Amino acid sequence: MKPKKNLIAATMLAGAATALSFLSAGQAQAQGALVMYCGVQEEWCRAMTTAFERETGIKVSMTRKSSGEIYAQVKAEAANPRADIWWGGTGDPHMQAAEEGLTVEYKSPKLAELQDWAVRQWEQSKQRTVGIYSGALGFGYNTELIKSKGIPEPKCWADLLNPKLKDEVQMADPNSSGTAYTLLATIVQIMGEDKGFDYLKALHKNVNQYTKSGAAPAKAMALGETTAGIAFMHDIVTMVVDKAPVKVVAPCEGTGYEIGSMSIIKGAKNMDSAKKFYDWALTPEAQKLGAEAKSYQVPSNKNTPVPPQAPKLSEIKLINFDFAKYGSSEERKRLLSKWDNEVKNLP
Ligand code: PLP
Repeated sequence: MKPKKNLIAATMLAGAATALSFLSAGQAQAQGALVMYCGVQEEWCRAMTTAFERETGIKVSMTRKSSGEIYAQVKAEAANPRADIWWGGTGDPHMQAAEEGLTVEYKSPKLAELQDWAVRQWEQSKQRTVGIYSGALGFGYNTELIKSKGIPEPKCWADLLNPKLKDEVQMADPNSSGTAYTLLATIVQIMGEDKGFDYLKALHKNVNQYTKSGAAPAKAMALGETTAGIAFMHDIVTMVVDKAPVKVVAPCEGTGYEIGSMSIIKGAKNMDSAKKFYDWALTPEAQKLGAEAKSYQVPSNKNTPVPPQAPKLSEIKLINFDFAKYGSSEERKRLLSKWDNEVKNLP
């Protein structure tokens, strides 16, 4: 009896010790951990994760999603946030999250090194999101398909309505994709709301698929799965650099652009790590990783070299994009539900 009792006591002690060692490992991990929601291309997300882990020893758990999907997840998790930092993707859902109190104010010591447009994003969001890169919206086409189908090369937004492009244009769904929401806001700003929605309804006839991610149409063009596609110009450049038969177009009527953004989640469990990542992500060393991962946006730190492949914003007819208005919670919700009701469900 006695030895058995001792055995039980010893087993219990060993169990308690194991539980204790688990607890302390868990605590140590919590101090050196970061949960990141990443809104750019998977390759760039992975490069950022690896470099930050190497630089700081902080273990990063990264999830890649499209801009609108991250916003929806952050909102759903607000009572018990899983993520600490939201890095990348278009600025509009970051602005909406800021207004809805899902993210927190932070003033990085790196702010002084940033371009005016990046700082303006920070000011307009009451210090809750900051610009990390910028890039213009456009479209592209597969040069071989357009030639073989005898379709004139599109140069303007209006040209995408050519009946010869029926079922030949791909774009993303603006609910999930920041790229496609940028299109929605751009068309409304260029044409006015009524004419803009007429345009989007007419475009719907030529759309073969509304993809979840904004960069998907660029990849589909490169693979010859669609003749034309709407995307950020830098995402189409990535395909050109990979020698795909694709041409990038800056639309003749003018176009909108994005301010890719970064925010710290309210209630982040690893707040110190989130701030470390935030400061690091604004350095030229971190921002250079974009071009190395074949993402050719214009970086927000004035000292980060602009990749030579990046479409030159000064040479593109950019509209005076109203980021505060189109990033506001009310306007973003209103436009998305109008697009759902009046465009997406058309036959
Ligand atoms: N990937 C790149 C390279 C981008 O520039 C952007 C825009 O911020 C995104 C992804 C956003 O993707 P989505 O339209 O899927 O939200």
